[in-house]
Amino acid sequence: MTAMRCPACGEAAITIRTSREQSPVTREIYAVCKVCGNQPRGVMEWLDWMVEGLLPASMHRAKLPQSPAARRQEALNRYRSKARREPDNQIPLF
Ligand SMILES: [Zn+2]
Repeated sequence: MTAMRCPACGEAAITIRTSREQSPVTREIYAVCKVCGNQPRGVMEWLDWMVEGLLPASMHRAKLPQSPAARRQEALNRYRSKARREPDNQIPLF
């Protein structure tokens, strides 16, 4: 995991001291910089999903959208699947 940089000194020396859940997709975090002692407060938030897991969407705690990258991959998979089902589109070799 990549350490976050301190907003004061810029060093990658931030440690999360504590955090608390605000919602199923957001968490408030309290941190401290091990170099300069700055103690920033922030929020971590889930934006979307990259890969859908095994749990059905109806059982998810929060409804997250599919990421743009996942949407592109799904469209590509649909296209490839369709191309495999339509052998008439193949170019004859001889
Ligand atoms: Zn610092």
